[in-house]
Amino acid sequence: MVNIKNTTKSYKLNTGYSIPAIGLGTWQSQPGGVEKAVEEALRAGYRHIDTAFAYGNEKEVGQGIRASGVPREEIFLTTKLNNTDHKRVAEALEDSLRNLGVDYVDLYLMHWPSSTTPDDMKKHYDDWDFVDTWREMQKLAGTGKVRSLGVSNFGIKNLERLLNDPSCKIVPAVNQIELHPANPSPKLVAYCNSKGIHCSGYSPLGSSNSPLYSNETLKSIAEAKKRTVAQVLLMWGLQKGWSVLPKSVNVDRIHANFDLDGWRLTDEEMAKIDAIPDRFKVCGDSWLPIKVFFGDDE
Ligand code: NDP
Repeated sequence: MVNIKNTTKSYKLNTGYSIPAIGLGTWQSQPGGVEKAVEEALRAGYRHIDTAFAYGNEKEVGQGIRASGVPREEIFLTTKLNNTDHKRVAEALEDSLRNLGVDYVDLYLMHWPSSTTPDDMKKHYDDWDFVDTWREMQKLAGTGKVRSLGVSNFGIKNLERLLNDPSCKIVPAVNQIELHPANPSPKLVAYCNSKGIHCSGYSPLGSSNSPLYSNETLKSIAEAKKRTVAQVLLMWGLQKGWSVLPKSVNVDRIHANFDLDGWRLTDEEMAKIDAIPDRFKVCGDSWLPIKVFFGDDE
């Protein structure tokens, strides 16, 4: 048994706070199921919950947190600024805090670098973009309502623009991006690491109806290790150095996705997964009014 404890592992952020390596995802977790999922996960030992205003389940996530009996201060809670709220950052945070029933969030992310008008998700403001939004988000630092600020779905081009803007005084603590073997983004991850930005990997299992479960390389590694493909995928992300956010509303899978102590992938197994040639992206940008991904390392 290898002495590895991923369930209590965390990564230090540039704010000094620590982000637990394994977080429960809640996208597409419906009210009615998500309370139980959050409660179950916290009871199983998860200490990191990822939600967003856009998921429409912040209230139920908050209920699950309270039902678990785990003290608020032991939980790392992330939520995200909706695209339609970029011109009302402070108010949007208040809305999320009220929904969640908490006084602060550990991490507040700009969900997408796309500032959309409230009446039409397909219309981008012509006098506002993510640099303006970040300027407003920075004002939340020191209010006691957010511990760390970050971004999501930022590629290198947009990060460069943000970091090089004179109004940028706070380097994002986190960039939450899609990371799995079919979208490994090595250049983007290296760029973030070089700037002290922690990467959090979303859709680590390849999301709903993931084609990764039938990948022969992953299947043979899972078989050899007497693990599931999902566990291998999560371990790969952890060994790459990012936090992973598996979503599940199923009790058994919530537990299985947290069974990540006492074993690891060998360098050879890691290399085999790195060499998987398949490429797909769960979250593209075609539903947005502007392009936010540019190139092959998104
Ligand atoms: P995941 O890669 O976590 O996959 C979730 C899917 O896999 C669900 O259908 C789930 O079903 C199923 N599943 C979970 N565990 C297992 C298992 N052990 N074996 C087989 N199937 C399993 O996808 P997500 O896209 O949900 O990403 C994870 C989280 O990342 C999100 O929930 C969200 O919090 C965040 N995210 C952030 C985004 C952003 O823009 N910042 C975009 C996308 C995601 P079931 O629930 O029935 O178990």
